[in-house]
Amino acid sequence: AELKNEDLKDMQELGQGNGGSVKKVEHVPSGTIMAKKIVLIDAKPSVRKQILRELQIMHDCSSPYIISFYGAFIADPNICICMEFMDKGSLDGIYKKIGAIDIEVVAMVAWGVLEGLTYLYDVHRIIHRDIKPSNILFNSKGQIKVCDFGVSGELVNSIADTFVGTSTYMSPERIQGAQYTVKSDVWSLGISLIELALGRFPFSDSASDDSDLSDFESTLSPSRPGPLRNLASATKSKSEREKLEKKKKRKSKGVSLQGGGMTMSILELLQHIVNEPAPRLTPEEKFSKEAQDFVDGCLLKNPDLRATPKDLLKHPWIEQARTSAFDLEAWASTF
Ligand code: ATP
Ligand code: MG
Repeated sequence: AELKNEDLKDMQELGQGNGGSVKKVEHVPSGTIMAKKIVLIDAKPSVRKQILRELQIMHDCSSPYIISFYGAFIADPNICICMEFMDKGSLDGIYKKIGAIDIEVVAMVAWGVLEGLTYLYDVHRIIHRDIKPSNILFNSKGQIKVCDFGVSGELVNSIADTFVGTSTYMSPERIQGAQYTVKSDVWSLGISLIELALGRFPFSDSASDDSDLSDFESTLSPSRPGPLRNLASATKSKSEREKLEKKKKRKSKGVSLQGGGMTMSILELLQHIVNEPAPRLTPEEKFSKEAQDFVDGCLLKNPDLRATPKDLLKHPWIEQARTSAFDLEAWASTF
């Protein structure tokens, strides 16, 4: 049967993102609890219909590592996407609640996400494009599933200003305007894993006063004229940066990242990702060699050297996670 907005009863607000909000709802005729994502889009009816058509691919996505899809509909002026409800929420919410996540759990998260990415790519040729802790969900059965993958190109185009929300997990090649590949998702996974294991976003504020944004602030405004393409040219070579550093420094008045007392602007952060060494899983003595090697592999700045999700499923750290006796269901009952 068709999913209709009238059949859904709001229960609770689950969270707000850049593109809209997510509510826990009950599908009254069936008694099914769902998560309803409400996406505000500014698009013509023809584009909305196109988005709905593209979203139908999600009906064919069936994997234990991918959120199930119940259906999507237009509820003017929004598009609503109904999906499986995950009662423990997303991993960012979990670490913000309980602190840094046990590395054994992080390994199982890595394994689950790699399985999900491999399924999406091998079976449907879908690249996720938005791997980050808020798009990795967990439930009290101990299951780990990914959501919010890029099935609809039109939806991605229509969401107003996805730039700020997605950029911080973006790979160096992506920031520089290169083609998106499955390896870009692997970079985002590496950043996400460090964030979970440390309990904070991995880019420190060491770079916060290491750049002058005045030269390319103008490339971002007024209204999103392809910020990534502009950033490719805005990202300076080292000598250009050194010249810039001699110029009058001024604090960015741009968007700053919330949390952890970090005051890096988005542009400073993107420049940092492109120009500085990738973050690592440290301190050395706290994490196993396998865990560090896995994360280092995800965060190779050259995408040609970086492994694919499928390759990484064979990594020793993932092999360990597969055979681990760690009980995720029991862990889920602790918070
Ligand atoms: P962004 O908009 O930058 O991608 P986001 O992923 O946090 O950020 P949303 O995708 O709108 O934004 O999700 C908002 C919050 O709703 C998430 O952080 C997550 O905690 C919660 N959420 C999303 N989907 C589900 C789901 N299927 N079950 C339970 N909670 C969910
Ligand atoms: Mg999301």
